[in-house]
Amino acid sequence: MNSADSAKNVEQVIASLKSLVDEADRIVVFTGAGISTESGIATYRGTDGLWIKYDWEKYASIDYFRKDPSYYWSFFRDVRHDMMVEAQPSASHKAVAELERQGRVSTVITQNIDGLHQKAGSEHILELHGNTTRFYCCDCRAPYGMDEVKKILDEECPVHCKKCNGIVRPDVVLYGEMLPVNVIDEAQREAKICDLLIVIGSSLVVYPAANLPYEAKLSGAKLVIINIDPTPLDSVADLVIHNPAGEVFPQAVGYEGSK
Ligand code: ZN
Repeated sequence: MNSADSAKNVEQVIASLKSLVDEADRIVVFTGAGISTESGIATYRGTDGLWIKYDWEKYASIDYFRKDPSYYWSFFRDVRHDMMVEAQPSASHKAVAELERQGRVSTVITQNIDGLHQKAGSEHILELHGNTTRFYCCDCRAPYGMDEVKKILDEECPVHCKKCNGIVRPDVVLYGEMLPVNVIDEAQREAKICDLLIVIGSSLVVYPAANLPYEAKLSGAKLVIINIDPTPLDSVADLVIHNPAGEVFPQAVGYEGSK
């Protein structure tokens, strides 16, 4: 395929996506890691090689956290804090937020824990796996923010609660924990009442990611899947796009920053 052909294909894809978005009154956007790749999250390795010191099977596991919470907190201090501060929403995150401001997107459902939809300005967000920029005390549930835990980390590791001295933990679903049932229930309700569900950057292989677009479809919604690689739901989608989201989604919804 020469470059003129591929440019024409991208234009066609954008036009098809635009017409589905224009026809819809209630859109749900479902996002996975692919939308944050363009924000540098996946490729972030820090500047000093500290990243490789940490084993994700330890810092992302509830069993290991219970055994040695200081491992997670060292990882947060050395790697994750700066990574989260530096990560910026992509044009696709911003375009989703813009559609919500216009009253077109009712809900963003995300598998990501990076908080980039919030940074972009989205408000109604259902986080299936929690958010790694929020924290709470394991004992009294007191909430903590990024700056607060960073300050405590200058004094001690792991982070203890200022109110009850319990261990503070990230507000994410760690390996070995259940997904939050109330969030999944609400995500299912939203999927059933939308008239267009747009998947951005999810391979749709794990539950409940694999289910939600299917439920939307069964309830009569149109389904768009934007993902670099094929997904198991491609065959039931109304439009499947294998381009990077940043090349097609912001343009299709007329997001100004895409120009
Ligand atoms: Zn506490």
